[in-house]
Amino acid sequence: MIERLHPEGPACPWCGVALTSPRSRASFRQLGRVQCTICARFFTALSGTTLNKTGLEPTGYVLLCLLLALGLGDQAIAAKLNVNRETVRRWRLRFQTLERIWSEQP
Ligand SMILES: [Zn+2]
Repeated sequence: MIERLHPEGPACPWCGVALTSPRSRASFRQLGRVQCTICARFFTALSGTTLNKTGLEPTGYVLLCLLLALGLGDQAIAAKLNVNRETVRRWRLRFQTLERIWSEQP
């Protein structure tokens, strides 16, 4: 999933420089916080992507992806993640948009 969000590989969302050190690349893939060696700003693999503003922890995204993939309804997912049903509906729309973007990539 992280690779699909970043087809060009891990890079700083602020200045665009690619992550080269193995340690920061590994941390980036695990959704950890990474500091850019060029602009010194902190970011994660989700910074600057559609998923960034859902207000959910990285582990929550993975769970949400899983539940959506399993075909669970909004109500069931809302109950499992202990969030509002309307919030789940908005996430679902976001994921549908992402899936469309991904499927259009060659
Ligand atoms: Zn940077």
